[in-house]
Amino acid sequence: MRDGEQTPGVSLTPEEKLLIAKRLDEIGVDVIEAGFAAASEGEMEAVKLIAKEGLKAEICSFARGVKGDIDAALKSEVDSIFLVIPSSDIHIKHKLKKNRDEVLKLTEECVEYAKDHGLIVEFGPEDATRSDLGFLKEMIKVSLSSGADRVTPPDTVGVLTPERTYEFFSDLKKTFPNTVLGAHCHNDFGLAVANTLAALRAGVEEAHVTINGLGERAGNAALEEVVVALKLQYNVNISIKTDLLYVTSLLVSRLTGVPIQPNKAIVGENAFAHESGIHTHAILSEPSTYEAIPPEIVGRTRRFVVGKHAGAHGVMAVLEEMGLNPSENQLREILLRVKALGDKGKRVTDADLRAIAESVIGIPQIRPIKLEELTVVTGDHVTPTASVRLNVNGKILIEAATGVGPVDAAMNAIRKAVATIEPIRLEEYHVNAITGGTNAVVEVIVRLSRGDRVITAMGAHEDIVMASVEAMISGMNLLMSNNNRFKSKDF
Ligand code: MN
Repeated sequence: MRDGEQTPGVSLTPEEKLLIAKRLDEIGVDVIEAGFAAASEGEMEAVKLIAKEGLKAEICSFARGVKGDIDAALKSEVDSIFLVIPSSDIHIKHKLKKNRDEVLKLTEECVEYAKDHGLIVEFGPEDATRSDLGFLKEMIKVSLSSGADRVTPPDTVGVLTPERTYEFFSDLKKTFPNTVLGAHCHNDFGLAVANTLAALRAGVEEAHVTINGLGERAGNAALEEVVVALKLQYNVNISIKTDLLYVTSLLVSRLTGVPIQPNKAIVGENAFAHESGIHTHAILSEPSTYEAIPPEIVGRTRRFVVGKHAGAHGVMAVLEEMGLNPSENQLREILLRVKALGDKGKRVTDADLRAIAESVIGIPQIRPIKLEELTVVTGDHVTPTASVRLNVNGKILIEAATGVGPVDAAMNAIRKAVATIEPIRLEEYHVNAITGGTNAVVEVIVRLSRGDRVITAMGAHEDIVMASVEAMISGMNLLMSNNNRFKSKDF
């Protein structure tokens, strides 16, 4: 969690950090590096809050080779510290402005001081992978003779490859056979997960990982990827509750404000989505044809996406979920129109598909929610506020809400009004300006969920607030209408 929060632009409140820590504990993480107690008052408060929560996991604070950092960790009442002191000549010279002998002495003093005060010490020779190997081993030896409990030599700037990781840790394991070693791999070359797995194969017992691969620069090894690879590719009986990985990823993304890239392994929006007709056809008869990971293992469900690559089987599966049962001829016509829309470069949302299907099948378009009135106030020295009047199946709902901006306020007001009858959640929000310029039409795509059902809907308008509201209401209408009662007539 400490390195994850060092993601540029991310800063969490103590309460948010506690929420994440509780979830990490629930999924079965052994050690939680809760933060850097000496960094600020807020960090101290957060680390203390987590340490006092009585979690099963060992709670750890980061500390530099500075007495004050160790004192702060002690004050925060953590179980352990990740004590990081540079071992590479670049860091010793340019960061610490010391020499090797002084660094060895510092290591001895800090480890002994922390041990004398009852802390578990995980020693981290910083920038280990760019250090002189002889000196690195000498430094580790000093840390161990001073009482360090574990040693994690970090790949601080992410320069290892899987082959070099294996050699590096095999060598250290041979020199220190009775020491618990850890890996801390950075993702500058996109190799953090591969390197972490190579380290584990070389006999390392502990892996530093972060949810969604967050962390400094390109981040750290992603917990979810390492865990699922260990479980499915290496058949390791790992104690992490994998079915909670997705909700954990969503929680961290929401609290940090760092979105998950759509094609991210395990937790990305597209990781279990299929559009291609060839693939969906095969998956519907046997999922393993195009899925290496059963989605339920990581708490997800398979999703079929409509678009120009879609085939009849995939489109039919989505329509059936919407409660629509077109005939064969109708399905052919729906597919034609979906592909035509896709060929124009448009993203075909679920709401588009439904509108196309309804017009082809010839059923009246069901729109339970109608917007009757919307007022938004925004500006300098005013809290963005929106009031909304909705007609939901003839019932008038009036609500008002504030937000960080006009869009947020409008969406909050609508959600508040609809929440009184339906628990609908906004999962994602994207804006695209179709052309440049401030008078451009903007396209807003939202992803909404109600229970297990997730749908996408779009709104397009030259006013960003109206585009957002349109997308939101169109999506809510889709989630609220149940068309099972409409049986199709032949086309
Ligand atoms: Mn790091």
